[in-house]
Amino acid sequence: MTARSGRQSPGSLAAALVALVVAAGCAVGGVGESGPQEPRDPAPRQSGPATSPSPQTTRADGTTSVEEFKTDIGDAVDIAERYWAAQFKASGQQFRPIRRIVPYQREGEVACGGQALPRNNAVYCSQGDFIAYDVNWAVAAFRQVGDAFVFYLLGHEHAHGIQVRLGIRYSFTIQQELQADCMAGAYLGDSVRSGTLTLDTGDLDEFREGLLAVGDDPDQPWFAEGSHGTAEQRTDSFFRGYEKSLDACDLG
Ligand SMILES: [Zn+2]
Repeated sequence: MTARSGRQSPGSLAAALVALVVAAGCAVGGVGESGPQEPRDPAPRQSGPATSPSPQTTRADGTTSVEEFKTDIGDAVDIAERYWAAQFKASGQQFRPIRRIVPYQREGEVACGGQALPRNNAVYCSQGDFIAYDVNWAVAAFRQVGDAFVFYLLGHEHAHGIQVRLGIRYSFTIQQELQADCMAGAYLGDSVRSGTLTLDTGDLDEFREGLLAVGDDPDQPWFAEGSHGTAEQRTDSFFRGYEKSLDACDLG
């Protein structure tokens, strides 16, 4: 991802690890009912974990270093912000960037709407307008799936912030989630087409792998609170946005 280096997909992926992502995650703060809620840490650090949860996937060439992870997070946020600012401007609206990106390491370190965020999670919290993610978990997923996963993850959570700004709210979480996947695909596809992002070999496969891993359990009812969609539905939504841009995402 980006023009910097030609990273390859590290290959095998721990589905169980990544499946936790968006499962508990987005349901926490996808749309908000209660008042503003600040993360407890007023000055979140982007310091990486000293202990990696998946040392077996660490490679010696340094291309999956915590430094690189932090750079990718920063790039993903910058590119998403620029993308959405341009979209809003084009439709004559003012864009307000998401207020903060908050990495955390412990359960309960950050709360959203009075609910402590669990480990192994990433979330957009509408109460407080911030994205929070478990940095240890995200680094592990970055190492297992590849850098494209970071761009997808941030794009998906960012999309929830855009949904709030646009006043979009569905009756079922699955609709909200599949739209966020579509919007993440659109921001990435459009950024590649505009030359803001350059894909490396394997990046598209990384998106596929990541999406397969974050699909709901096949026996989860689609209407259940917290449903995000099956791996197939999520992959379809993402690539529809990726290929056809925002027109495919029913933003209204
Ligand atoms: Zn979500």
